Amino acid sequence: MLARTPEEHIDCAWLLADPGVQPAQRGMRIALEGGGIRSVAPLPDLAASSAPRLLALPALANAHDHARTFRSATLGAFGQPLESWLPFLGVVPGMDPYLCAATSFARSVRHGVANLMVHYTRVQGGMAYADEAAAVARAARDVGVRIGFAVAMRDRHGIAYCDDAAVLSALRPGIRDAVAERLAVKPVSPAQQLALVDEVARRVEEGGHAGHVTVQYGPAAVQWCSTPLLEAIARASADTGRPVHMHLLETRYQRDWADANHPGGIVRFLDDIGLLTPRLTLAHCAWARPEELALIAERGATIAVNTSSNLGLKSGIAPVPEMLKHGCRVAMGLDGMAFDEDDDALREMRLAYSLHRGWGYDTTMTREQLWAFASGNGPRSVRGGGAWGRQSGRIAPGAPADIVLLDWDALDDDALFAETDPLDLLLARANGSHIAKVLVGGRRVVDRGRVLGIDEPALRAELLARMRGALAADAAGALSWRETVKALAEDLGPFYRSGRIGGCCG
Ligand SMILES: [Zn+2]
Repeated sequence: MLARTPEEHIDCAWLLADPGVQPAQRGMRIALEGGGIRSVAPLPDLAASSAPRLLALPALANAHDHARTFRSATLGAFGQPLESWLPFLGVVPGMDPYLCAATSFARSVRHGVANLMVHYTRVQGGMAYADEAAAVARAARDVGVRIGFAVAMRDRHGIAYCDDAAVLSALRPGIRDAVAERLAVKPVSPAQQLALVDEVARRVEEGGHAGHVTVQYGPAAVQWCSTPLLEAIARASADTGRPVHMHLLETRYQRDWADANHPGGIVRFLDDIGLLTPRLTLAHCAWARPEELALIAERGATIAVNTSSNLGLKSGIAPVPEMLKHGCRVAMGLDGMAFDEDDDALREMRLAYSLHRGWGYDTTMTREQLWAFASGNGPRSVRGGGAWGRQSGRIAPGAPADIVLLDWDALDDDALFAETDPLDLLLARANGSHIAKVLVGGRRVVDRGRVLGIDEPALRAELLARMRGALAADAAGALSWRETVKALAEDLGPFYRSGRIGGCCG
């Protein structure tokens, strides 16, 4: 691992210190100290500076993700709606968790993300859970990214939004046993699930990772968690102050399930059991209604919107203008499903802006709101609340030195007009290929497209070699499970379209 010494200062041709609020400044020096920003001042003599021409901006945040390393289309899941897509995640065997997490984190940080949420729903297995969590924490340390680690928790509905027995009876008989064996839920008591979170937190603390890993409760979603489990999590979060990270209303079928099973309102239900607090982040809310958004805003929970994921999994387009109108705190998530399957947070931000800024002369998402979405609000979901949280998303004295530096000459490669607003060019065309450096907490973690803390190409090659070996060693078993998953995906279509999830369980 290469040493990452803190930088003392950064010189840039352009600075977007508070995008959407403050105009871009030309020729600035950012002085760094103790992981934060000490001062920001004009460069004494811009012309004499030999530094490459850089555009500095606050680093981005990814408020909802899962540290998955293999991409959906690779797994054969392209074009599947969420409900049929989920089983495809298991078509590859578990691998070394450090290799998986490090390669996934490296891709995120190369694309400008300093704070990254990990809702750990895909356990690699082969070791105790806390050991696996410790390996993920080491990967985050080595890559140089801060993570929220939400321990995934669930105790019902392993196959669809319904009791497993009811779903199994709707599948073709030939796959029922295999599906039941692999996917049916083996319930674990709320007390045991909470104890696991405590154990992970202890391991993170003992391993010296508490500075860059925030352990959280990660109930998968209401349809996947019994009420006693959700109530226990709400109480534990109130006692410990730990954040909670959960999916909500991602798809139309989840909407149907929620309406049938929580006629008083699913968001009202979360509020009644004490889960709807400022400590909670709700991923998606793509099918939330205005009165639900108003309550989420009132209680101060965060919504993590995953634009590309919602498109890729055919979930829909989240009502972001409506969320903003109600005063919700909205943060960007990539959910491992960026538009090009590359974790490019810059392109993700631009896609969200294109969809939500408003049509014609209407403005339904301002640039200031966009920046809060892409950079300022996410760190709170990742790290929990705190005084530093108010400073995120800006380059200003006292803020953390989480900075992305773009190659200005590559971004403005026409260079015709000196007065072109750098924020316009950023929002028009910037993507991960323009990133020259990324700093997290004042340390350079990416330089010229390369992650400095790990040998990413070597780790990726190692992971792929091991995966190919594991697949070859059990070629028949892997193929037969892939075929089962394809058949399951087909059978789930008629199951959901029949509307049966409405009344089949409580
Ligand atoms: Zn997700």
